[in-house]
Amino acid sequence: MALIILDTCINCGVCEPECPNDAITEGKVIFDIEPQRCTECVGHFDKPQCVEVCPVDCIIIDPDCVEDQASLFAKFERLTTADS
Ligand code: SF4
Ligand code: SF4
Repeated sequence: MALIILDTCINCGVCEPECPNDAITEGKVIFDIEPQRCTECVGHFDKPQCVEVCPVDCIIIDPDCVEDQASLFAKFERLTTADS
């Protein structure tokens, strides 16, 4: 699954530096998660780091972007290969 930021985001920016995949950016209105780069932290951490730090709990699983563990790990491998 990739995660999505709801419009209750208060633009605090705390999540952005925590993402190991550089998937979070400041959008026009609220912060955004790029689904192609979000592995739900699979390959890096046991839990989604953005969810851990968000003070208003506005980051959820995107129901339109559900992926299984194998797909998330494959995405992680693609990203780490592409970034190296
Ligand atoms: Fe980044 Fe992990 Fe949050 Fe996805 S779940 S946006 S990879 S910190
Ligand atoms: Fe928005 Fe939560 Fe990220 Fe802060 S931590 S910018 S409230 S999504």
